[in-house]
Amino acid sequence: MDDCIFCKIAAGEIPSNRIYEDERVLAFYDAAPQAPVHFLVIPKEHIGSTNELDNSNSSIVSHIFEVIVKIAKHLDLDNGYRIVNNCGDDGGQTVGHLHFHVLAKRRLAWPPG
Ligand code: 5GP
Repeated sequence: MDDCIFCKIAAGEIPSNRIYEDERVLAFYDAAPQAPVHFLVIPKEHIGSTNELDNSNSSIVSHIFEVIVKIAKHLDLDNGYRIVNNCGDDGGQTVGHLHFHVLAKRRLAWPPG
């Protein structure tokens, strides 16, 4: 997608602080961190949101979760972390490219606002 900021980050056209990358996904630190550790994991393929997942592309989600576990070990997130996916306007999604937030290193409240 030409005007998608996360496609541009995946392509290296916009710089990011990368943590992990393979042929299918990229993980990078959030520009506006909401916790001492806050990174995003995205598919390199453009998928607009969770609502665009189906049988043809949903295997990316299990891969993303496997990558999150790997990164959590690498970053010593032994005390836990939260994975967040915002979907659509009511979900608070602001970037129209599927992404999972990972927040850690502080005690997070529940329920979210
Ligand atoms: P959403 O609100 O869609 O769930 O999350 C989008 C996230 O992307 C936000 O936490 C925001 O701070 C982050 N973000 C938006 N633009 C950029 C950017 O250019 N670089 C990085 N690293 N993060 C971004």
